[in-house]
Amino acid sequence: MDGPVHPVHLVGGTWALAALLLAAGCGTGTDGKPVAPPTTPAPAPAPPPPEAPDMPTRARVLEVGETFIVWTWDPVEDATGYEVDVAREGTPAEDRQRPVPVEEPPHRSDGLTPGTTYQMWVRAVRETAGGRAVSDWTNYIEWYTWQDSSVPLPACTDQRHRAKSYTFGHTQVVYEWQHDRPIRFRIVKEPIIAGGLRIGRPNFLEEEILEPLRDMARRLEERLGYPIMDSDAPPGRDDYTVLVEWRDRVWSPGWGAPDCPEHVGSPWNAGQEPPETILNRYLFDPAITCRGYLRDRDSETIIHELGHTFGMNHSRILQPELPPQELSMSVPLTRIIGGDSDNFLMIEDLDNLGCVFPHPDFPR
Ligand SMILES: [Zn+2]
Repeated sequence: MDGPVHPVHLVGGTWALAALLLAAGCGTGTDGKPVAPPTTPAPAPAPPPPEAPDMPTRARVLEVGETFIVWTWDPVEDATGYEVDVAREGTPAEDRQRPVPVEEPPHRSDGLTPGTTYQMWVRAVRETAGGRAVSDWTNYIEWYTWQDSSVPLPACTDQRHRAKSYTFGHTQVVYEWQHDRPIRFRIVKEPIIAGGLRIGRPNFLEEEILEPLRDMARRLEERLGYPIMDSDAPPGRDDYTVLVEWRDRVWSPGWGAPDCPEHVGSPWNAGQEPPETILNRYLFDPAITCRGYLRDRDSETIIHELGHTFGMNHSRILQPELPPQELSMSVPLTRIIGGDSDNFLMIEDLDNLGCVFPHPDFPR
């Protein structure tokens, strides 16, 4: 036995002595009852074990690169640290690394593989003299590392044929594509500007439509060597022009996340013939604040819709029931992950669109 035991013996001895002195006096305690000396030495009270801290909230991503992701979350009151568990999507349980102890957010995961999905869980830890307690793990959040943009362009297979086979309609811009006529846009601006003001987004038109279209056009041209979209040119003939407009209508009632009222329908949609992306009635109704609407007001959703207009359906990794003859978006483009099309419109999407809209001077 070593040091920590001794104070217990001292305390026990003191108790015994006090009891003896009282017994030698009047034999009663201050309340008139006989004083019973303790029969066993009382141990020093151990510090109570800590209560479990709250689960971290608002887990999110601060920064992404080809080989790193910086995760963060709101600090938890009384937490003395955290444990972070990061794994490549689909990693079997037995291959998972042990969670990493972290003092405080944010946490940077390095050495990741480019163009890959990672999932992150976090829980709070509280350590006191009385022990250690942990919160529940959060649900995971997932993110994608940037792809290595130096990957060479793969040869085309049947992407153009697949884009023509799109279940939701005749993909007019695909059928009528001519390599010397990049696709133009007719944007009905006034109702979109007015709508943006209603939801407190005076720059909605610029930030959610014009800038994402310019970014997509530029990235396609940089990647492929020739333009597919001409986001600056005035509208051309209808068959070369994608209409972008807000309409006071409801599309697909019953759509949406469980927390969305049934009557609101979907926030955005895409059409193939005529080619169009449509912002629907409630997108600019500030009273509608369910999740899908909040996302689609601030996530460059037009790029996802344009994927549909260009003949792509959602990822079959996410929706295996989709017809196998269709052309799939990447998982990030399907999910509109992160709200910045520079990230979620993946290299594979650019490469596929190059095959849908080919150029004879740039054979693949
Ligand atoms: Zn969609």
